[in-house]
Amino acid sequence: MDNKILGLHHITAIARNAKRNYDFYTGVLGLRLVKKTVNFDDPGTYHFYFGNQTGTPGTILTFFPWEGIGAGRTGTGMATEIGYSVPAGSLEFWADRFKQFKVKQDIAVESFGEKSLSFTDPDGLKINFIEPKQVDERAPWETKEVTGKEAVKGFHSIVLTLKNIKPTAELLVDVLGYRLLEQDGNRYRFITGAIENAAVVDLVESPDEAPGINAAGTNHHVAFRVRNEEILMAFREKIASRGLGITAKIDREYFFSLYFREPGGVLFELATDNPGFATDEKVEELGSNLMLPKQYEPSRAKIETLLPNLN
Ligand code: ZN
Repeated sequence: MDNKILGLHHITAIARNAKRNYDFYTGVLGLRLVKKTVNFDDPGTYHFYFGNQTGTPGTILTFFPWEGIGAGRTGTGMATEIGYSVPAGSLEFWADRFKQFKVKQDIAVESFGEKSLSFTDPDGLKINFIEPKQVDERAPWETKEVTGKEAVKGFHSIVLTLKNIKPTAELLVDVLGYRLLEQDGNRYRFITGAIENAAVVDLVESPDEAPGINAAGTNHHVAFRVRNEEILMAFREKIASRGLGITAKIDREYFFSLYFREPGGVLFELATDNPGFATDEKVEELGSNLMLPKQYEPSRAKIETLLPNLN
């Protein structure tokens, strides 16, 4: 299984206020900030990584909080819903907690035989908390208010909304190793057997829907997980041989990446397990320091004055 795509690695979305974003994901949802760094292409902007204790691939949601950026619009050619796995019986806790914090939520429903509660983050990003059919053994990050009985385990799934699912489905099956599991109306559930969790991609076919606009409250890209750089580069060959444009290998400090646009318009990334988030901070300290890549270290003082205050 080692040379396969191992489900989701991370998902990256856009927010418009760093402090509000940080408070929501660490405070309300109880995730751990595992890395506080800057956007490597725009060092006056934070790049937050929220996940479990060590930021295991398959648990990591990352944000570019661009202060004051306008609201985006979900639509086709975009990842439109993030699915997190939560413990069985915890949705009632979450519904109460969302009420307490005035989080916009829907009534819990059943989807593909699993209980699911939808809500939106402060920028309108849609998230589903799902009680999966299979027990999820991943250890969650716990806080005083969100204990192990309720805490988020990591990703369950991602939803891609597409005008036509066919070319994306072919890529998922032929190249990324997924198979069609179930269909419910215009929603098609794909799964990989290469890993137990974060293994689901749902494709929603919506031919008449307008294309999404990528700004605050929308997902920027979806990263799939591979074990190491050798496997990463083998996938680069496979994807390029289908005529899709794909970047060279990029060093993201905590993983190595390739980016390409899948035929339905969603920006995909492939990212490695190595070296991981403990490469520049101890596990106990993850997220507590502002970590800069070496090219920005000489400008640290200036960058620190540019970045918004989180306290
Ligand atoms: Zn990424």
